[in-house]
Amino acid sequence: MQVCVGAVSASLVVSKVAQKRGLDLKQRFIRFMQGRYGADDYSKFLVGAGLALAILTIFVRNALLSLFCWVLLLYAYFRIFSRNIQKRYQENMKYLSYKGKVRGFFQKGKNTVVQRKNFHIYTCPSCGQKIRIPRGKGKIEVRCPKCSETFVKRS
Ligand SMILES: [Zn+2]
Repeated sequence: MQVCVGAVSASLVVSKVAQKRGLDLKQRFIRFMQGRYGADDYSKFLVGAGLALAILTIFVRNALLSLFCWVLLLYAYFRIFSRNIQKRYQENMKYLSYKGKVRGFFQKGKNTVVQRKNFHIYTCPSCGQKIRIPRGKGKIEVRCPKCSETFVKRS
């Protein structure tokens, strides 16, 4: 199933032709895009994901994968050429907030990894409070900030 690859190379040919024809086609395109939504972060993501899948279908010949690639690309172009600007704008806002959440999640995970490297996290035996102790201090007495229970730990 090389259809996706075909679509990509077809768009390359179109842009080559556009280069040759120059301004005329460019202006026609501008006129065509008037009142239409255009590209945003969400459609860029969709096109990117579609192209990544297109490359994947070169190595993995799977009809479903190829279909999904087409759906992504067609949906991206549907959004770009859409005249319902408000709705597309809201979709993009949703996408951006979701993207921020995903990024925040990974940032948080990264911070935890750094903390694990430099700190021990102990749990107070009396009240269950989590206590962060720097590593490499030898045997130390830990005092729980919540219930004042003390216990000895190797850091
Ligand atoms: Zn405690």
